[in-house]
Amino acid sequence: MGLLALGTALEWPEAKKRADQVREWGIKQLLEIWNKAKGKERDAMLWGDEVEYLVVTYTKDEEKVLLSLRQAQILEALATDKELAKEGCVPALQDGPVQKSKTHPLPVFHPEFGRFMLEATPGKPWGIGFKELLDVEPDMKLRRKIAKDHMLSNEHPITLTTFPQIGIPGQFTDPYYPPSGSKLRSQFVPDEIANPHIRFPTLAANIRWRRGRKVQVNVPVFHDKNTPTPWKDPTVNYDLHNWPEDDDVRNGASPDDFIHMDAMAFGMGSCCLQITFQAKNITEGRQMYDQLSPLGPIMLALTAATPIYKGFLANTDVRWNQISRAVDCRTPEELGEKPLKNDRWRIPKSRYASNSTYISTDPRLRPEYMDPDLVIDPKIKAKLMEGGMDDLLATHFAHLFIRDPIVIFEEDLQELDLNKTDHFENIQSTNWQHMRFKPPPAENNIGWRVEFRPMEIQVTDFENAAFSVFMVLVTRAMLSFDLNFYIPIKKVDENMERAHAVDAVLREKFYFRKNPFPLRPSRANTVFGDESRPGSAMPSRCGSPGLPVDEEYGEMTIDEIINGSADGDFPGLIPIVESYLDSVNVDVETRCQLATYLSLISKRASGELDTTARWIRNFVDAHPRYKHDSVVDDVITHDLIGAVLAIGERESANRNFAGLGIHGLPRLLGGFRGGCGQDAVTNGENGNGNGNGD
Ligand code: ADP
Ligand code: MG
Ligand code: MG
Ligand code: MG
Ligand code: MG
Ligand code: MG
Repeated sequence: MGLLALGTALEWPEAKKRADQVREWGIKQLLEIWNKAKGKERDAMLWGDEVEYLVVTYTKDEEKVLLSLRQAQILEALATDKELAKEGCVPALQDGPVQKSKTHPLPVFHPEFGRFMLEATPGKPWGIGFKELLDVEPDMKLRRKIAKDHMLSNEHPITLTTFPQIGIPGQFTDPYYPPSGSKLRSQFVPDEIANPHIRFPTLAANIRWRRGRKVQVNVPVFHDKNTPTPWKDPTVNYDLHNWPEDDDVRNGASPDDFIHMDAMAFGMGSCCLQITFQAKNITEGRQMYDQLSPLGPIMLALTAATPIYKGFLANTDVRWNQISRAVDCRTPEELGEKPLKNDRWRIPKSRYASNSTYISTDPRLRPEYMDPDLVIDPKIKAKLMEGGMDDLLATHFAHLFIRDPIVIFEEDLQELDLNKTDHFENIQSTNWQHMRFKPPPAENNIGWRVEFRPMEIQVTDFENAAFSVFMVLVTRAMLSFDLNFYIPIKKVDENMERAHAVDAVLREKFYFRKNPFPLRPSRANTVFGDESRPGSAMPSRCGSPGLPVDEEYGEMTIDEIINGSADGDFPGLIPIVESYLDSVNVDVETRCQLATYLSLISKRASGELDTTARWIRNFVDAHPRYKHDSVVDDVITHDLIGAVLAIGERESANRNFAGLGIHGLPRLLGGFRGGCGQDAVTNGENGNGNGNGD
């Protein structure tokens, strides 16, 4: 959501006193939305993506790449560009209404937590048409171009999840600021790393304050052949005495064999790719929320892109847990380190974590799938139910509302405005789960939406479009075939952990439902027959009654989940999508373009192509400067970012990567095509197949 209006942000001790009031008003606002919008019908099937960028300063000859902290100036340049305004671009310093325009309006740019970050979304959400799916990639390219056009010549927007050298000793931001400000109290990064809008430093400071010490973002170091064992993070300073929090490392915050980070910026400074879907009504929205949830860890592993932190190779491939820890505001009592005295309950997860609820009214939702450790606020649940909300949804929100609001503006507590959703959004938007159920905002004619949040951003817009479009197609197929991906929430949690492993996509197995069809098991495969066509008499909702829950799911590789199992027992998400595309009218040209996207996903899943994380690891490994000691130095970082920029330039020019000489590139992008009907231009591979071998 957009920024709150400027005001007086309360420091934590004051904010804590007002937390109940915010929750109470938030619940009233939620009930107001619920009562207004629960019967909303026939909303359009819209969707939209969000792409996040790091802004770096890079020149070929300069050894050091830096994070540019000119977010505000860049957004300002975008906002005041009259030419862009004429064209209908709406650079938003705050979220404005969705632009209504006959043709697709130019993209919208948003601020983000990091002062070195930008976010861009389409100028208005995408519609239901298949042809529109082909507009996504050009739109993403346009966003990148517009962003670049409003930067200095040495500044570049890049789509790596994290900057490899954030928090290293010495300079990594432009301009330089020394670390250890009063808000973050980090020994590695300055307060100036965060967006200076009062909301962001307050968020970081109050999370730290509530927690009673700095956040502790420890990620296991990757042990290479010359990495010492045990490995002690050489960048940690044990002798600082600026803040009480400097004691944290003396109290064991930085264990052996972990890269130690101590500030929100190490997590919330990461870039991701998010997709928001609008449902036709609340029932469908609740169904989408549940059914997309088990796909979260799978897509996290498949988009893995985060192998480096603070100048060291990590032994994990994705950003998720680092963000989770970077905003973990739980107190020692809530964490179970001390007996409960002042706090209300022990809380098993950070406020940034995988989902803990299913919410659909689908009769296939079995009680056994629910999280047995779910913590809810029973008083809030009772209020919601008194207000007419059903048990499941009341449980969902009563879970989100166990959290305190972190940033409260004094001015907003004067009187309750039931035409607004600010207090509700305060809690809702600081519950960063991998799915978000978004009720209609008060002002706009917007429906019930569901956001899919786990994916990591990819280097190219081709890949980002591919993953976005893939999720759209999976969602459409899921609705059309009434697919059933339910597994117990605890297994989704476990999958989320597994998704962190290096090369999880190839090395791990994930819990997944064996039969996703709403048919009896014996007829599962008939979805590929005529019976499965929309409008046919496909029996629905018959589930597989009687099957014990733990026989409903099994452990599968991502290749099996995406491409199907060799024995044919599990059909595979891509074959399901293909089957869906066969069942609807898609012209040949569109189908061909979609096939290039599906091909990328298919090959990433099978291992024929590398994940971004694997590509980065191999790039580092092959670099002449790399000493196999897990250290990613200035020169390696420079060349990695240089490679990323070169890929971007070729992508927007002629897509011919031949001769770029970038290590491992053919295995990242494969037969990256020059368009349908043309030969693949790159690596001697044909990129026009759909990757399923048919
Ligand atoms: P947030 O940051 O809270 O997730 P954003 O305002 O950045 O939300 O929007 C997320 C995405 O949702 C954008 O791609 C936007 O185009 C899209 N979007 C906006 N309105 C709708 C809608 N009614 N239905 C579906 N998607 C929408
Ligand atoms: Mg946002
Ligand atoms: Mg956004
Ligand atoms: Mg964002
Ligand atoms: Mg979002
Ligand atoms: Mg295979």
